[in-house]
Amino acid sequence: MAERVAVVGGGLAGIAAALRLADAGREVVLLERRPRLGGMAFSFSRNRLTVDNGQHVFLRCCTAYRTLLTRLGVTDHVVLQPHLDIPVLRPDGRQARLSRLPAVPAPAHLGASLAGYGLLSARDRLRVARGAAALRRLDPTDRSLDRQALGAFLRRHGQNDATIGALWGIIATATLNLPPDEASLALAAKVFRTGLLDRADASDVGYAAVPLGRLHSSAPRTALAAAGVDVRTGCAVDLVEAGRVLGHTASGPHEWTVEDIVLAVPPRAAFGACPALAAAPAAPAAGLATSPIVNVHVVYDRRVTDLPFAAAVESPVQWFFDRTLSSGLADRVPRGQYLAVTVSAAGQLVDRPAGEITARFVAELGRLVPAAARAEVLDAFVTRERHATFRQSPGTWALRPRAVDGPPGIRLAGAWTDTGWPDTMEGAVRSGVSAAEAVLGASTRSLAEAAS
Ligand SMILES: Cc1cc2nc3c(=O)[nH]c(=O)nc-3n(C[C@H](O)[C@H](O)[C@H](O)COP(=O)(O)OP(=O)(O)OC[C@H]3O[C@@H](n4cnc5c(N)ncnc54)[C@H](O)[C@@H]3O)c2cc1C
Repeated sequence: MAERVAVVGGGLAGIAAALRLADAGREVVLLERRPRLGGMAFSFSRNRLTVDNGQHVFLRCCTAYRTLLTRLGVTDHVVLQPHLDIPVLRPDGRQARLSRLPAVPAPAHLGASLAGYGLLSARDRLRVARGAAALRRLDPTDRSLDRQALGAFLRRHGQNDATIGALWGIIATATLNLPPDEASLALAAKVFRTGLLDRADASDVGYAAVPLGRLHSSAPRTALAAAGVDVRTGCAVDLVEAGRVLGHTASGPHEWTVEDIVLAVPPRAAFGACPALAAAPAAPAAGLATSPIVNVHVVYDRRVTDLPFAAAVESPVQWFFDRTLSSGLADRVPRGQYLAVTVSAAGQLVDRPAGEITARFVAELGRLVPAAARAEVLDAFVTRERHATFRQSPGTWALRPRAVDGPPGIRLAGAWTDTGWPDTMEGAVRSGVSAAEAVLGASTRSLAEAAS
């Protein structure tokens, strides 16, 4: 019997699309090239540790991703701060906190934190308030903002190297995977308004308390199976055309005849598997470039910090997270600690030799966290994602297709599609739901047409 919908790609977009379609009663096959689900957000084993390919953070405003976590039954496996509180460290030992006061509405919720933000002078703190007011006046749906870079906008509104380095850049680089001078103002407006300035609780920080693989691979497998989705991992799709998907597994070639297809793979894979995309409204998406993220993982023989995570300024360390519990280190080195350093927009770093990267970052962690300089490093290694996100620079909005911009019968999904959000887990889930809704909307329309 023919499968009704094929979802190609088992990242968060494909998972969200498959669940939405199955919940609506469609018969779904999900085809994923790798042996696991979860796409860009996954875990692997190394020396009896479970390691995430890269630290993943979400915010309370990421409602679609959080709804997916609820659907997957894994909300107990994530930490979500009751209120925003980010320690910010500097190598000279000075510290500040980016936090909000509970029960104070936006935009005053950040006022006390800004007033006490000791990494900036009093004059620069006033500049930040001016910059925030200017960002708050932007409309993230205004496409003309995508012609400008965030950095130029900030400088036009009174910001200087100090405020951009010690504050705006921390958030912008982590969320847009580009430095402010290279990032699209339209996407930055989305990040800062939706994620920080419009609602007091929007920016409360969340992250996985377990390996990402449990959230994004094991849990979805169970939920998809329960919803009746036929999940085929280890199945690379070679050709997608209206009504037909050709792929192969270790056991040989396979073909699926379907009514609808959701293509939820990154742009390069989408154009490779679906030649008709080049002639579809989505064709400009071939022009999307990518931006890398590097993570440096350091295992110490003892605890070096009580901070669950921190951001850093004036340091190549942008953020670090304590992954001791989630990695299972306690079973191996009961008193040890495992810190994972995140470096976004890592174009300068991604091709450097691993030994050079680890030596540099072990030294830098020692400058930020003095106890780390005295501890023994038991293991240090690097994970590199060369195509972590699309390059979210000015001019990219016009390149991002909508779910319905594929060839007939083929809907598009993925964090790179036109979700209005940056390339994030939230964007991925939203794109999957939109593509599924487009499939369902189209079938409702054709049923209505048949009946009339
Ligand atoms: C290191 C790193 C850190 C990040 N940090 C954050 C963060 O802190 N917060 C955040 O929100 N986001 C973060 N992101 C971005 C986030 O991971 C992505 O936006 C999101 O996971 C993309 O999901 P997706 O489903 O759109 O695409 P993908 O995850 O790329 O999924 C596409 C899937 O398609 C499969 N596929 C490709 N070709 C084929 C084929 N021919 N046949 C079958 N299957 C195929 C792939 O194997 C993959 O599983 C980070 C990304 C990286 C890499």
